[in-house]
Amino acid sequence: MKRVLGISFGELMLKGANRKLFTDRAIKKIKRAIRSFHYDQLYMQMGKFYIDADPAQYPEMTEAIRKVFGIVNISPSIRVEKDMASIEEGVLEEIKQYQGQTKTFKVFVNRVDKSFTPKSPELSRELGAFILRNSEGLTVDIHNPQISVYVDIKEKAYIYTRRIPGIGGLPIGSSGKGMVLLSGGIDSPVAAFMVAKRGVEISGVHFHSYPFTSDRAFEKVRDLAEFLTEYIGGMTLYSVNLLPIQKAIGENCREREMTILSRRFMMRIADRIAKEKGAQMLITGESLGQVASQTIEGLTASGAVTDLPILRPLVGLDKTEIIKIAEEIGTYETSILPFEDCCTVFLPKRPVTKPRLSDLERSEEALDVEGLVKQAVEEMEVFRIGD
Ligand code: ATP
Ligand code: MG
Repeated sequence: MKRVLGISFGELMLKGANRKLFTDRAIKKIKRAIRSFHYDQLYMQMGKFYIDADPAQYPEMTEAIRKVFGIVNISPSIRVEKDMASIEEGVLEEIKQYQGQTKTFKVFVNRVDKSFTPKSPELSRELGAFILRNSEGLTVDIHNPQISVYVDIKEKAYIYTRRIPGIGGLPIGSSGKGMVLLSGGIDSPVAAFMVAKRGVEISGVHFHSYPFTSDRAFEKVRDLAEFLTEYIGGMTLYSVNLLPIQKAIGENCREREMTILSRRFMMRIADRIAKEKGAQMLITGESLGQVASQTIEGLTASGAVTDLPILRPLVGLDKTEIIKIAEEIGTYETSILPFEDCCTVFLPKRPVTKPRLSDLERSEEALDVEGLVKQAVEEMEVFRIGD
């Protein structure tokens, strides 16, 4: 008899042509989540993953594994040999925790190994009767039981009564690749989290204005990326100095257009890196109406320089809802640290709030747009976070 942790992904994930790819990825993500623990074995058996380790670690391990997208639930289980006596012994051990409690139960048998006898209905009945004989306070309720006693018959038998929900979502990588424009603020890490949750593999690009922005400001962004990697696994972070571009804008364009023109350059550069690295979408923390620059005209103007889809998952959320998610994923405290952002360094006194595309394009005629983009990409730094 051995205590193991059972891990279930959504069923769809374990079927179909991509199964092998999915399984390899899932194993990698689980391994990463438990990399700071010692464990004897991580294996897959008929549709579920199992971890074999010192049970004292299971609560902490469960917390770490819960963060892997696509996991539906985690069940601390008892693994026994596949014979009636061992299964009964395992059931007895599992229901010990409910002894003396007045509760109802039902046995759910999942006979994955179809050669096993007795068949499910009979086995459920037998085990139900066994529990009644060997417990105090427990009674059967087949419609609305308080305790579900699961018995999975596979190569071994697995018995469990607790299913701890995962955070859901889809496994990373199942929905393609995206590039998030990651500032040091509250919003963009949350945007990255939300899109990653739907299975998108994330990399990030951050713009700074060094030396006007400090090393500490960049450290902050790295820390934010580090928090994200707890969920999304390792990520690549591209760091781009926007200062030459901001200087060029400052010298050649209207002051009021500084923010929106900078934003258009950010989009162009993100577009360029994304295409080079195989990302199929851009992701931003933009919303509507939150700040002066976030008007539909502003979003249209910044989006017009790329033909990649731009995902803005926060448009449906209020700031309080965004903050709540930031707190849950652990980025909030870091996001509110008061370091300067490249946009605030060159903040115009009265920014245009409803820019016209034709005006912006005319302003940009004074700039060597392609040369500036090219230079910024050539000089960018690349960091691997969280591996
Ligand atoms: P955030 O909290 O994410 O900084 P915000 O509410 O401060 O967002 P803005 O500063 O207008 O909003 O930025 C909107 C979006 O543009 C950000 O969510 C981010 O995706 C992108 N962005 C802004 N500044 C940067 C930057 N320095 N580096 C990378 N992306 C940025
Ligand atoms: Mg910001």
